[in-house]
Amino acid sequence: MISVEDALARILADIHALPVTRVPLAEAVGLILAEDVVAQDDTPPFANSAMDGFALLSADSKPQDGKPPRLRVTGGVAAGYVSTEAVTPGTAMRIMTGAPVPPGADSVIQIELTRNDGPTSEWVEILQTIAPGNNIRPAGEDMQRGQTILARGTEIGAWEIGILATLGWSTVPVTRRARIAILGTGDELIDVDQPLQPGKIRNSNTYLITAAVQQAGAEAHPLGVARDTVESLREKFAAALQYDLIITSGGVSVGDFDLVKDIMAEQGQISFWRINMKPGKPVAFGHIGKTPLLGLPGNPVSTAVTFELFGRPVIRKLQGHDHLFKPQVEVTVVEGIHERAGRRNYVRAHVELQDGRFIAHTTGKQGSHMLTSLRNANALVIVPEGSPGIQPGGTTPAIMLKWPEVAYNQPIQPATDTPNEQA
Ligand code: AMP
Ligand code: MG
Repeated sequence: MISVEDALARILADIHALPVTRVPLAEAVGLILAEDVVAQDDTPPFANSAMDGFALLSADSKPQDGKPPRLRVTGGVAAGYVSTEAVTPGTAMRIMTGAPVPPGADSVIQIELTRNDGPTSEWVEILQTIAPGNNIRPAGEDMQRGQTILARGTEIGAWEIGILATLGWSTVPVTRRARIAILGTGDELIDVDQPLQPGKIRNSNTYLITAAVQQAGAEAHPLGVARDTVESLREKFAAALQYDLIITSGGVSVGDFDLVKDIMAEQGQISFWRINMKPGKPVAFGHIGKTPLLGLPGNPVSTAVTFELFGRPVIRKLQGHDHLFKPQVEVTVVEGIHERAGRRNYVRAHVELQDGRFIAHTTGKQGSHMLTSLRNANALVIVPEGSPGIQPGGTTPAIMLKWPEVAYNQPIQPATDTPNEQA
């Protein structure tokens, strides 16, 4: 049996980022940019108005004999159109936000600082003196042609999509999205639309894993359920070889029908098949042919927890991320955890911030077959191997499952723990 850290290190050493490809902009969210994005145009592409108001010569905004100057309105320009007419001394043009500044004008005054006769007024009074450039957004103010705007390695989120769209990147070079084959095992499994029968249970794991793979940003390809025979498993694995990773559930323990590791040994190689943790001892990793295989345990809670600890970092590494791990923080376990931990124990819990401390409430019965322990859980409280448990009100690290990933797999130290803070 190996430790969780050893298991992760061995798995990640065998996983490499997928090749670079180009995808349509609309499909790039969540992927990692494979090249620097250099602006090939200025943004904004032309000088335009920051306000609804009037374009004028700033020199015309000065009061005359103590009275607001009155200018003749010669027309208007809306966003999306270009005025060929120029603004000349003594005149102004109506202008809308985003419209190109007409030739001749060097400034815009917002409508609130003017007085006129309404939308068709032929005159406007200027109520404030303005400087050249007032309310004008110059061409290239935001991004200049030739400037690097996004660096290679950036994760593409909604805001980066907005930048790429502005720059006209209709396709984006990225590390390819991973394609994950998902395979259930077990003669006891029936599908979700089937009525229960004696001795049978519904297949929940492949649905859970499919959803978790999608949440991790990869493509999920559920390949159904293999029967507990060597023939059925061989057939399913043959179909799974074309994917970037195979995730199985069940069939990796020491029972008579736990055949996944036998097939791995027959058609590839096993790196390990047991980890010193609870839930989730029977996790296997290795290869079938050249395709990596992560064999998760059959018990649904073990499946869920080991996917978070091993499956998610693997998918992220395949997709070129360098932030692989959910953050850990120190939490106070209100009721304590009374069970002795032989193996490293990952206890499902709900953690929230209260008065500046993270407070954990465990989520009920923790049997690895008891899906109800996943309800309302947003964290895994870690009870170290060999520990007698956690005293009520005691502290221990917890993995924050709903927080964005970080680069390291260790607790974030609370600020008060650093000696420098004392000064
Ligand atoms: P195994 O590792 O195959 O011996 O499975 C361990 C436990 O997990 C058994 O109680 C199985 O019935 C259960 N199990 C295995 N696969 C699934 C699945 N896809 N959905 C729900 N339970 C499963
Ligand atoms: Mg089984």
